[in-house]
Amino acid sequence: MAHCELCPVSCGADRDKTAGVCGVRGLTVAKYYLHPFEEPPVSHKNGSGTVFFGGCHLRCAFCQNYDVSRAKRGKEITPSELCGIFRELEDAGADNVNLVTPDHVSHLIAAALREYKPHIPVVYNSSGYCKVSALEEIDPYIDVYLPDLKFVSPALSQRYTGRSDYFEYAKEAIAFMAKKPNRLDGSGKILSGVIVRHLVMPQCTSDSLRALDFLREILPEDASVSLMRQYVPMGEAARFPELARKITDREYRRVVDYALALGFSNLYTQDRSSAETAFIPDWDL
Ligand code: SF4
Repeated sequence: MAHCELCPVSCGADRDKTAGVCGVRGLTVAKYYLHPFEEPPVSHKNGSGTVFFGGCHLRCAFCQNYDVSRAKRGKEITPSELCGIFRELEDAGADNVNLVTPDHVSHLIAAALREYKPHIPVVYNSSGYCKVSALEEIDPYIDVYLPDLKFVSPALSQRYTGRSDYFEYAKEAIAFMAKKPNRLDGSGKILSGVIVRHLVMPQCTSDSLRALDFLREILPEDASVSLMRQYVPMGEAARFPELARKITDREYRRVVDYALALGFSNLYTQDRSSAETAFIPDWDL
């Protein structure tokens, strides 16, 4: 990692000495706990064993976990200490280990998983902005992919993340992830597969429809899509007047109706009450 090109930013930082654009040198964890509010097959009965990593290479202005993604919160740990967290979550009864924002530290998570692979499914909860080469390294240890597909339009991704090439990378990454066979156990808990998330944003519903067109093309029939309506203005969203509000019922309905018309049968939707900052965890590490 003397010249890091792990993620699409390829900033070339010497991570033995300094942080790159992602804001961290090594592994930083802001929180781990049993999370009850992921999609039902992921949170299942006891909760998803989420591990929130600090830093992020994709600088979304509206980030819903802003303090964590900007590496303002969190504790530095080693890969061996991460194995200890995996064991704690397993002992607490987690239905899976859920790696949140892992792309910029995937090489270190892979090192931890080589040392200790949990006996419950491992979920890779990604922004979608990642390189297939990085996914190939960690894929043998991953059971479930939970990627975002944020934008199709280069203009929108440039405006809100500073990266016009978001979709170019996300489409390759999601096509790679979609190869995981979808499997649930008898109680509805996900054991393997992919659930693609899309956060519906204010005034962006036309792009949402394009995202669904793409997903219909590349995902298998039984793949799941999660249409999120939990957007609340956070982070630097105030810089963009159009992002200063939650989405409307009409915007959300338009996207859900389109997904149904495309024939998505495994579709997760959210109630309007999900768009509250109360659902954002306290960052306590
Ligand atoms: S992972 Fe971080 S340091 Fe590496 S290329 Fe991406 S932004 Fe730069």
